[in-house]
Amino acid sequence: MKHSVDELEVKGKKVIVRVDFNVPFKDDGTIRDDNRIVAALPTIKTLIAKGAKVILMSHLGKIDFKKTPEEIEKAKKKNSLAPVAVRLGELLGKEVVFSNATRGEELESKIASLKDGDVLLMQNSRYEKGESKNDPELSAYWASLGDAYVMDAFGSAHRAHATTVGIPSEMKKEGKPVAYGYLVEKEIKALGRCVNPQPDERPYIAILGGLKVSSKIQVIDSLLKKCDNVLICGAMAYTFFRAQGYKTGTSYVEEDQLDYARKCLASGKIILPNQTVVADSFDDPKVVKTVNVYDLPDGMEGMDIGPNTVDVFSAYIKNAKTIFWNGPCGVFEKPGFEKGTLGICKAIAANKSAFSVVGGGDSAAAVKQFGYADKFSHVSTGGGASLEMIQFDGKLPGLEVLDD
Ligand code: ADP
Ligand code: MG
Repeated sequence: MKHSVDELEVKGKKVIVRVDFNVPFKDDGTIRDDNRIVAALPTIKTLIAKGAKVILMSHLGKIDFKKTPEEIEKAKKKNSLAPVAVRLGELLGKEVVFSNATRGEELESKIASLKDGDVLLMQNSRYEKGESKNDPELSAYWASLGDAYVMDAFGSAHRAHATTVGIPSEMKKEGKPVAYGYLVEKEIKALGRCVNPQPDERPYIAILGGLKVSSKIQVIDSLLKKCDNVLICGAMAYTFFRAQGYKTGTSYVEEDQLDYARKCLASGKIILPNQTVVADSFDDPKVVKTVNVYDLPDGMEGMDIGPNTVDVFSAYIKNAKTIFWNGPCGVFEKPGFEKGTLGICKAIAANKSAFSVVGGGDSAAAVKQFGYADKFSHVSTGGGASLEMIQFDGKLPGLEVLDD
């Protein structure tokens, strides 16, 4: 059984909270989007109100330890959580102590000086090489700094790292309580409904788009088992067109996935676009045309689904009772290629009786950008994590470890 943060006795206790503060930055080093910080506030505020000493841990970006010491230093500077501590302080309306050290004297003394209701943010957990390896020594050390652990980093729950799995495992061994926070609770509830909808929650459809074909293509298998239909769009569609023997011009195609695509098509549940918007160049499009998918001209690149496909997909959406969407339908960031993604937003908004979830960094950003976030039942904060929730029936390492 898993426990909620509500069940913890935290007054005067040091509570380590794993949050997902992996926020995007602008080139000038300021935070571009603070959604992930805002999403963690309910858990943090509750712990403050209950008089806990809150110790926040998060990763930010990637640090490649195979690089030269100079390059590693540069990556660390670029991925510092210091600006996040400032922003969090503004959002909470109280001081947030920042420890630039991820172990040793600075970290320990700053934790020791915390009073009840104080908040500390530790520097990027990936400053430690052992974080991504779930290193036992590092996990035991970090676990020794707290009396309890709360998991509220849904976007990292699919990774077995020291801060997501190592610390709670160690704490459990020591008899210290572990729990999930409000954000994780909300995500488990919403995505749980997409894992295996009941007969009265069907038809269940998935819309799968975006770019990262190689990583997402594996999830199609499990979606085909769960869903009544899987609608494919985005760059991924072109691999399927090639698998059917169509010409795909200069579109993004994964040659080594063609057999897999054919195998998926054999299920009879996959719905492919019938119309596509193509351009003569990705970076500087001058010629843009809407064509049938079996008529894609040489030298042109598929950028979006066509209006006819929006209509076809909308009919499936209208009829559905559960909808899971990951990955934009086209290159929505570029003017002229956003209509497919926007059309899907509109169709989902129009079906008020369906349970609709969008998960994925870019798809969630598109939904927000177009002003449709409140029209969805749930906008997930996890990209990879939301896909893996469905793929592995909710069994993510960072959630499994919270069981007694
Ligand atoms: P998410 O973050 O929602 O999981 P991905 O990261 O997989 O989605 O993909 C998002 C990216 O896919 C967007 O930047 C979008 O421009 C790109 N994309 C969508 N359709 C196409 C296409 N036809 N060709 C190239 N890129 C595409
Ligand atoms: Mg993305």
